[in-house]
Amino acid sequence: MAKPLDIRCPECGRNGGHMVEGKTETEYLTSIPNADYPGLLPTYRVRTKRCVECDKLFGTVEMPEKYFNAYVLEIARLKGIEKSRAEDKLQIEALTNKLKMIAEITNDI
Ligand SMILES: [Zn+2]
Repeated sequence: MAKPLDIRCPECGRNGGHMVEGKTETEYLTSIPNADYPGLLPTYRVRTKRCVECDKLFGTVEMPEKYFNAYVLEIARLKGIEKSRAEDKLQIEALTNKLKMIAEITNDI
């Protein structure tokens, strides 16, 4: 068996030495279609490891780096959209309030 990849336990922070207890076969991810990789669906492998320090199980994912980078970029893009929508919502609320004030003034005339 190959030496397990040294990785930090997300529960206690112990680095390395964790043994693999299970793994999936390669699967296909389809959650983030990416025009940069037409015809290629990102593949990944999930392993379950048990921490040698705290004995808790945690999963790890192995995938080609370019797909991981694509996910990081996608997250940044989605955060940008979320921020933009929040700003749009504030502008809509401000405009709505102005319209209400104008309507109240108009009703008083
Ligand atoms: Zn641990």
